[in-house]
Amino acid sequence: MQGETAAATRTHYRACNLCEAICGLEVRVRGQEILSIRGDAADPLSRGHICPKAVALKDIHEDPDRLRAPLRRTKGGWQPIGWDDALDLAAARFALVARAHGANAVAAYYGNPNVHNYGSMTHGPRALAALKSRMRFSATSVDQLPHHQVGYWMFGHQLLVPIADIDRTDYLLVLGANPMASNGSMMTVPDFRNRLKAMQARGGRMVLLDPRRSETAEVADAHHFIRPGTDAAFLLGLLHTIFTENLARPGRLSGFADGLETVAAQVRALDPAALAAHCGIGVDTIGAIARAFAGSPRAAAYGRMGVSVQRWGTLCHWLIQLLNVATGNLDRAGGALFTRPAVDTIDSPASRPGHFGAWKTRVRGLPEFGGELPVAALAEEILTPGPGQVRALFTAAGNPVLSTPNGAQLDRALASLEFMASVDIYLNETTRHAELILPPTSPLEHDHYDLVFHVFAVRNTARYSEPLFDKPAGALHDWEIFQGLGARLADRMGVAYQPYPAPDRILDAGLRAGPYGAARQHPQALSLEALRGQPHGVDLGALEPSLPQRLAHADKTIRCAPPELLAELARFAAELRAAAPDAGSLRLIGRRHLRSNNSWLHNSRRLVKGPPRHQLLMHPADLARRGIADGARVRVRSRAGEVVVEVAASPAMMPGVASLPHGWGHGREGVRLGVAQAQPGASFNDLSDELLLDELSGNAVLNGLPVTVEAA
Ligand code: SF4
Repeated sequence: MQGETAAATRTHYRACNLCEAICGLEVRVRGQEILSIRGDAADPLSRGHICPKAVALKDIHEDPDRLRAPLRRTKGGWQPIGWDDALDLAAARFALVARAHGANAVAAYYGNPNVHNYGSMTHGPRALAALKSRMRFSATSVDQLPHHQVGYWMFGHQLLVPIADIDRTDYLLVLGANPMASNGSMMTVPDFRNRLKAMQARGGRMVLLDPRRSETAEVADAHHFIRPGTDAAFLLGLLHTIFTENLARPGRLSGFADGLETVAAQVRALDPAALAAHCGIGVDTIGAIARAFAGSPRAAAYGRMGVSVQRWGTLCHWLIQLLNVATGNLDRAGGALFTRPAVDTIDSPASRPGHFGAWKTRVRGLPEFGGELPVAALAEEILTPGPGQVRALFTAAGNPVLSTPNGAQLDRALASLEFMASVDIYLNETTRHAELILPPTSPLEHDHYDLVFHVFAVRNTARYSEPLFDKPAGALHDWEIFQGLGARLADRMGVAYQPYPAPDRILDAGLRAGPYGAARQHPQALSLEALRGQPHGVDLGALEPSLPQRLAHADKTIRCAPPELLAELARFAAELRAAAPDAGSLRLIGRRHLRSNNSWLHNSRRLVKGPPRHQLLMHPADLARRGIADGARVRVRSRAGEVVVEVAASPAMMPGVASLPHGWGHGREGVRLGVAQAQPGASFNDLSDELLLDELSGNAVLNGLPVTVEAA
């Protein structure tokens, strides 16, 4: 009997797909029971690291709230429906709306988990392809559009995002990021804590700018408070020192970096005292950081949510890369480099470098980027009558009611749609508006290869994960749902549909043709079969200099002075000159917690247990000034809306700044997330403002939001 039990226990190796860190996992299983989830010490990227979220894979898999078969909303409530009927119905209804009102009357929204599921990446865009609707939205315009726009304008490709080489750098300048909680974002850096320790042990320093003394501030060598939304002034102050003190050393980059002197002339004309006053960091401090950065043999600047999701997000990311270029740290070991992933989505015939402004939203005229429109415009496109009004919506793995600007407005808009269908494993705040919910298999029931986050990782590696459990009878994988809907919709619209190969076939072709591939006679001879034989993953080495060859502009240059960004700089400078002092106003920022990521993780009991983490944080002096006690319930108001939430006094907050985490707000009716509903919190995006955008990119502004707070 004991022998039988031992024989039934097996160990499975896979990558965690819950966040961008793609940690290797060792999962012990007996039959259908998950016995343990640990870090895989043999994974060449994560080296055994995991965070508490990893065990949520078990919770999600076993969650009684997770949908396992399609549902249809009827007058009598949610009813089961078979797959064929569900997909036929979805195709018929989308086709009906498109025929009656035009293709753009059907919109699509793809949430963040799509980029963590390779079947969604390969097949997701094909679900509505037959319609050729231009109303495509995703989570990209919530938090990362500026990274892609800068990659496109400076380097020629939206995925050419330089990655800070933490494993070899001497000086890491971090703006508005909390990798101790996130393990990196747009910079896949699992085990950030130990990588940082190793950097500090070899004499390196990390300097952090953040309006909150975050978990990362606790381990930084220096932390400076910065007023939310003013990072561009700080970055311009750094560049001002570098250009006026003749510290620029682009070195070999000079041979193919165009326009640096054009930018330098504009930066030199700025008033360093005004820049310092705007961001709240002294001229001397800015000068010292600039000199230390420029004087380090190897330095890298990296910015994330605090700079990506604010009014000047694209300007900030351009300035960060200019800092890397001007000091010669771009494309230098220990600086900021481009990755060389095994499936190279940049250097391939199917590559999509990006495009900008090819069409615009109907109501506000916001430009598309890479074929997607800013999601801040989705609600008004549904609510505003007229030709082209959005009347039907397809969502995949998204909860935009909680995760996009002015979610309350979107909530109302979704209730007015003629038809909505959602691919999702939960009945959440968004999918409750759908007529059909189409749940794919759980993450442990399908295979996995990370097509996206190897592109942003601090080391080149590759790892394929077999499914842990067989696909249950009658279930469909995400890509099968997309394919099934796509084929039916094409049929309804009378257009040809070419079935796509399964994701593993596409992966195999990508690996073979990639830089380490069998087709290129590389010694690694990568293919799917080769990766299957190496379940811990394959180490492909540290990031290496690759310029100018890797640049995607036809002339192989770095364009340091794109006209769009020069104009943005001029606009910022004009506002700086005209700016009235911001005395007394309260600015709202978000925050990330190690135990949270997307809203649906709040349905894991072990991730939400313990002290509540959804409170508003404010500096004690800001509470005292308003006569509000620590722990009181407060009403937070913005132009877009208001929420009531508990407040916690926190000396870690910069005075004048309040912080609320995103993804909460599970108190809405009709949701089936039992654990999350027991601790609902308030939704950050009931406060975020759909009219307040990074105007150049159309990205949402979630940091630096003006709010008022009073006792509730
Ligand atoms: S850091 Fe991210 S990838 Fe790593 S275990 Fe945690 S959730 Fe999974």
